[in-house]
Amino acid sequence: MALSASLRRRPLIAPVVLVLLFTLASAAPAQRQAWLSIPPDSILHRIRVLSSDSLEGRRAGTPGADKAARYLAALFKELGAHPAGDSGTYFQSFDFVSGVKLGPSNVFALQFKPNTQVSSNKGSRPYVLEKDFIPYAFAQETTVTAPIVFVGYGISAPELNYDDYKGVDVRGKVALALRYSPDGEMRRGKFAKHTGSRFKAIRARQKGAVALILISGPAQGDDQLPKLRYDNDPSDAGLPVIGAKRSLFEPLIVESLELLQAKMDSTLANVSREIPNVTATVATDVVKLHSRTRNVLGCLPGNDPTLKDQVVVIGAHYDHLGYGGEGSLVPDTVALHPGADDNASGTAGIVELLSAFADRARDLRRSVLFIAFSAEEEGTLGSQYYVKHPAFPLTATVGMINMDMIGRMKDSTLIVYGIGTSPIWKPLLLQFDSDSSIHLKLNPDGYGPSDQSSFYANDLPVLFLFSGLHEDYHRPSDTWEKINAPEEARVLRLAGEVAFAVDTMPARPLFTKADSAPAPSGGRVYGVYVGTVPDFGEQVNGFKISGVRTGSPADKAGLMKGDIIVKFGNMDIKSLYDYTYALGEHKPGEEVAVVLRRGDKILTVTVKLEQRK
Ligand SMILES: [Zn+2]
Repeated sequence: MALSASLRRRPLIAPVVLVLLFTLASAAPAQRQAWLSIPPDSILHRIRVLSSDSLEGRRAGTPGADKAARYLAALFKELGAHPAGDSGTYFQSFDFVSGVKLGPSNVFALQFKPNTQVSSNKGSRPYVLEKDFIPYAFAQETTVTAPIVFVGYGISAPELNYDDYKGVDVRGKVALALRYSPDGEMRRGKFAKHTGSRFKAIRARQKGAVALILISGPAQGDDQLPKLRYDNDPSDAGLPVIGAKRSLFEPLIVESLELLQAKMDSTLANVSREIPNVTATVATDVVKLHSRTRNVLGCLPGNDPTLKDQVVVIGAHYDHLGYGGEGSLVPDTVALHPGADDNASGTAGIVELLSAFADRARDLRRSVLFIAFSAEEEGTLGSQYYVKHPAFPLTATVGMINMDMIGRMKDSTLIVYGIGTSPIWKPLLLQFDSDSSIHLKLNPDGYGPSDQSSFYANDLPVLFLFSGLHEDYHRPSDTWEKINAPEEARVLRLAGEVAFAVDTMPARPLFTKADSAPAPSGGRVYGVYVGTVPDFGEQVNGFKISGVRTGSPADKAGLMKGDIIVKFGNMDIKSLYDYTYALGEHKPGEEVAVVLRRGDKILTVTVKLEQRK
């Protein structure tokens, strides 16, 4: 599968050009590095291989991703990179939760008081898993038996003057709620933030319920069970949660369920009520599936006797979404997601840069480490694992350049994040783009939705190159023939020139904390801004922070990387979801006591919440 050697050979440049390269302060435009003129054909070839059917969309933990890792390791070897992974290999393996399956102990049963008239249910009967009920992936493994309270849609939204929990007491009881909201199955709209099943589960728990049963209302048509689906968060919701057939409950509700739903939908009426003479037993058992995946690491050693212990990291994630599912924008479709732009383009980029740098191996002063990360799509797990198990000490890591989706440059516009993480970046970029042939959109932020965040969270200068979102993003239509390879070649040349300059400059780049604008709020984000960046890499009881945004409320309150928030206001925090829920319960301007674990200490700080802009 490797490419012929002729494509990899590049012309060498005269040494005098190298000297010119280091005159950063000079007004003269830099000489372009001819050895970084990468053939578009070669880029496209590698993208075609990586996005081909045989690699099956490269979902972390699947054979397709393993095949991609082996392909990359073989290329790294062929191109002369030294192995920098586990015990002399190119691979750095790690485990992660990749999915869930049903365990053996799921139980759902109703028990009726003697002498009650229930048309279709008599006595106690257990129901059939996957036919009558199914647990949610985030159900806590517990068994409870308790009376049932019907709580409408299970929504409590004081800001909308709507509360299904008003007038009923669910403490110690099983809450029974409809899926969705009075707006129907719409994902947007005023109830949007209240309709997620995780959110409803946390709401029920906060109200004191011991379990939650979700059913589809008659207005939703077919009496369907939800699918068991892992949402990339291994934390549970703190109580058992199941989906069940509404037909099991229809005989128990005196007024018809159809009528009650119609009332709620048309007048937002509260129709919540206890269901007399019956108790429910709910036991949930969901087994987490652990998978193993691998980062691929290859190194070109530096030649300077002292600087060679320092390293410049050039990275890109090679994993993608496989046949869809979580992360896909068409999650209910099973279809190969080739991920040509996301991120075969960046992966091809590190291979091409390795190839070019290998031809100049003797001119490298610092070492250069090329990393193809896995499990980025699961929440930058590969890079978060790497920074905890680095090949070179992080203190000797002078900077990281990340490429994620660089194959679809439009109007010669390149988005570059991380400008604020070192004063060196902007002059370098402008120097190598002195003719402005690439229109650079510079952003100071060191955080962003890709692997550079893991390095920035460790106080390292980072750059993130990105050619922009498009309509094929995270869809089966992200295919190789839509790649603009000549434009990607220009992006790679710029990336390579900046990396080579950093590799060879006498003093390492200074790190600076970047100003970061609060992320703009999307449909499902809440009005409150704190400035914490989640750490998805580790399972903890609480919400672990991988960093805080400079100048944010979290920063001002003294929150730090590694802190684990366990209480926010009066809400216990067990997961990211709890934290998001808790934010929704507060308003900008409020001061909230936050309890956190830092090492073996428990601290309480006060955070003054700001408005998300
Ligand atoms: Zn992606």
